[in-house]
Amino acid sequence: MREDATICALSTPIGVGGLVVIRVSGPDAILCCERIFKGRSLAKTPNSSARHGFIIDPENGEMIDEVIALVMRGPNNFTGEDTVEIDCHGGMYICRRILEALIKSGCRMAMPGEFSKRAFLNGRMDLTEAEAVMDMINAETAYSLKAATSQLQGGLSKAIEQVRLSLLDCIVKMEVNIDYPEYDVPEITDEEVQDTCGRALAEVEKLLETADSGRMLRDGIGAALVGSPNVGKSSLLNLLLGSDRAIVTEIPGTTRDVIEEKLDLSGIPIRIMDTAGIREASDIVEKIGVERSYRSMEECDLILWVVDAIRGLSEEELSFRKEMPEKPFLVLLNKTDSGRLDKETLAKTLEIDPALIVEMSAKEKTGIPELTEKVKELFFAGEVLSFSQPLITNLRQKEALMSAKAALERVRAAEGMPQDLLVIDIRDAAEAIGEVTGKSTRDEVITEIFSRFCLGK
Ligand code: GDP
Repeated sequence: MREDATICALSTPIGVGGLVVIRVSGPDAILCCERIFKGRSLAKTPNSSARHGFIIDPENGEMIDEVIALVMRGPNNFTGEDTVEIDCHGGMYICRRILEALIKSGCRMAMPGEFSKRAFLNGRMDLTEAEAVMDMINAETAYSLKAATSQLQGGLSKAIEQVRLSLLDCIVKMEVNIDYPEYDVPEITDEEVQDTCGRALAEVEKLLETADSGRMLRDGIGAALVGSPNVGKSSLLNLLLGSDRAIVTEIPGTTRDVIEEKLDLSGIPIRIMDTAGIREASDIVEKIGVERSYRSMEECDLILWVVDAIRGLSEEELSFRKEMPEKPFLVLLNKTDSGRLDKETLAKTLEIDPALIVEMSAKEKTGIPELTEKVKELFFAGEVLSFSQPLITNLRQKEALMSAKAALERVRAAEGMPQDLLVIDIRDAAEAIGEVTGKSTRDEVITEIFSRFCLGK
């Protein structure tokens, strides 16, 4: 795959009717388009200007579509290369014909993510920003989108780059010490090395702490909906999903497929885990502590425990409170439309804060706004909600920072050791940190990351 090839792809989803955009990028972008464009010369078009014209088949001169061509020369654009965007009429047939015409005139089809990859290779954005572009495209709720846009603004990159530069500076000075041991005054003292690494470690740890919020914003808060039979779990699930239950994801599990359903709770993405379990379980009389609900409780971020206001608490439910894993939970007091059990009594019986109980009725469809508020309080209270701090949003970033952390901890533990030993771990740390933004990422990893993008991006 030559990077100097000129590539083309449809950059908008195919839809019949409206306008679609075909993007052409590379050294010959303008020339290739000129060959199939009938109208005023694209080569003479000022930068960032649009031209009206017709796309013709270069082989037989047949007119394919009436279009607007937008010329954006590199390097100050998305990919950093000469780019032409062709706005044409929607529809599979027209798009295919135009792409074929472009290929005949010297382009090749872009691979998935290739436009973004070029933007990265041309220094137009770093890896965290490229990943943010992908997250923005895939964002399903308002909060997810906000997390992605704030990452695209480069907050994370800046925070990480600062740490990396401080380590590089330290390494350079240590190398002077190592190469010129005869100097009386060391370029950097052992104490200064430890201080720098200590500060870097604190910064990396602070970023790692955001990994959970970042992941939850991006992929959703994993919630386990549990409770005894007939308390109304499936009714509440249906209420939560509303009419908008098209997004069903299947995750291959070890013993069986776990089905989770995503919902958008006023902008907060929630994944209700193991909904297959909930649906099946409503037919079978089974105990609250069945293995599968325990497993989803182990894996989730939030336990939503449904209790029946008509029937009240059973002995079993009382002991369930004590067996529940230590993690955030809310009690959904369902059937409050005709129930007699109230919030205060339930809070006393369970010995929990009444603020953790949400009164709901699946039948009368009440309680969702209160539930939304509680979830926000539990997970996005304070800082994260403002999206002003850099967030770690995916596993790749997290793993790179984890190995940086480990390397820095080794430096701290080896206090008093000679600098030529310490510098090895500091180099590892700087390298791992550079992986987050792509400063020190191997080619095949880069290819892997961009191949997960969609076509035309
Ligand atoms: P699950 O076994 O926990 O999934 O419970 P279901 O959702 O199947 O509900 C059990 C029964 O409770 C059904 O007959 C529902 O109609 C009823 N039910 C569920 N939610 C409510 C509610 O909010 N109010 C009332 N009155 N009945 C409800």
